[in-house]
Amino acid sequence: MKTKQKRSKTTIPRRPVRCQYCGAVAVLRPASEIYGDEKRTDMLYVCGHYPACNAYVAVHPGTLEPMGPLANGDLRHLRIRAHRTFDQIWQRRIMSRQSAYRWMADYFGLRVQDAHIGMFNEYRCQKLIEKSQEVLEQCGKAAS
Ligand SMILES: [Zn+2]
Repeated sequence: MKTKQKRSKTTIPRRPVRCQYCGAVAVLRPASEIYGDEKRTDMLYVCGHYPACNAYVAVHPGTLEPMGPLANGDLRHLRIRAHRTFDQIWQRRIMSRQSAYRWMADYFGLRVQDAHIGMFNEYRCQKLIEKSQEVLEQCGKAAS
């Protein structure tokens, strides 16, 4: 049946979002609180045991859907590294940004719109770093 699921802004998702590290239910909190940055207006799912458990995840813009599983500090840093390595491919114009995302999506068997490093787990981040480095090494030996 069609229900009135979207009646309020404080909707709780159908299934509770749980922390993959400690199992606590995550709560929606303003990103500004977590980052200490008042300019942030987005929301995060933050582990109920935060800050003891330092895990959280962003929501898809305009929704209350988590981008993926909660990530702790290690995974977040890995994603940042993966992003930096991958971004060099298009920043150095080895591929256009669009082609680089297509290449990444193809490699992981994803649709381009699902190829978000922010959703990647450790394994995918490692793979992306490896693969991106191969591309960078093949194409940019003279650059560094
Ligand atoms: Zn946790």
